[in-house]
Amino acid sequence: MTSSQFTKLLMHWHFNDNNRQMPWKGEKDPYKVWLSEVILQQTRVEQGWGYFERFLKQYPGIQQLAAANDDEVFKLWEGLGYYNRCKNLLVTARLITNKYEGVFPADYNTILSLKGVGDYTAAAIASFCFDLPYPVIDGNVLRVLARVFGIETPVDGKDAKKTFTALAEKLILKKDPGGFNQAIMDFGATICKPALPLCNSCPMQKTCTAHKQGMVNMLPVKEKTLKRKTRWVTYFIFKHGNTTLVHKRTGKDIWQNLFEFYIVETADNPKWNNAKVHDWLLNQLGITGSPAVQIINADTQKLTHQDIKGYFIKVTLASIPPQLKVPHLQWLKPAEVAQLPFPRFINQYTLKNALEAELFNC
Ligand code: SF4
Repeated sequence: MTSSQFTKLLMHWHFNDNNRQMPWKGEKDPYKVWLSEVILQQTRVEQGWGYFERFLKQYPGIQQLAAANDDEVFKLWEGLGYYNRCKNLLVTARLITNKYEGVFPADYNTILSLKGVGDYTAAAIASFCFDLPYPVIDGNVLRVLARVFGIETPVDGKDAKKTFTALAEKLILKKDPGGFNQAIMDFGATICKPALPLCNSCPMQKTCTAHKQGMVNMLPVKEKTLKRKTRWVTYFIFKHGNTTLVHKRTGKDIWQNLFEFYIVETADNPKWNNAKVHDWLLNQLGITGSPAVQIINADTQKLTHQDIKGYFIKVTLASIPPQLKVPHLQWLKPAEVAQLPFPRFINQYTLKNALEAELFNC
């Protein structure tokens, strides 16, 4: 996918199909954008919304906030936690009032120099309020870029910021940077979602690298996941005729160089049921017709620093979708599967299940 293709598809989706409602959407007043971003730094939208409205009612402009009594402001902040944010809010309101005569600075570096304002907030204010081409980089944006462009750099690693910011700077729509930033965040939140992205109805589907290469569930790579104490692993055992899909693990992670089935790793227990599996098959692979599935709880495997929990889901396919016909996914006959090394987590399952006969008996 080229940069211009991506931006075109994204903006087309944004103007025609993006229905995500956010209280501050379209706001251009830097005071309001700044206030909302500071409130949202460690707070969910639903919780922050009421606070934002109460702050605005009491302090409609930055000068009123700057003139407020500290205790009164802290009282209004009560319940939001991370009181440093509130302290910084007052410091910045007073600085802008005294040094910049109450006018919010309009250049990126000055915005970034304000207390309590980091890269993300500075880019949001600069792009939404002043049409400056600074991309916002949050979890949604990182996930979308990693998947669409097939980037395997860990999104929480030391090289992530440089890699993803450089790409986003190339992609951002210069004539509407605020619209672009809003679009990509909304796209990540509603379409290219973390665990169950809606690939089947996604406008990027045809050009998305992760989708084309069957890697949607392997991207983005996260170092934190690799270090997580409990990991939830679901193995889809895809069968087609006499063959089974297997994949070789190559990343720097547990079970390197061993084989496995099609893996989906989630932050929490995915609690699969038939309807959820069919939904996933449709959204990820475009598989319709509700094929027969068998869901089996895996036994926990205790490694030195991690517990591996999860599921095995056997799915018999009538035909192989294109995303599962890529070089790193192999369709092998039972005799070939039997030659491959698998991790114990998979072996303990295959050994004690009837499936063993199907998979490993020649
Ligand atoms: S096809 Fe799937 S992985 Fe690719 S951008 Fe769309 S939702 Fe995300």
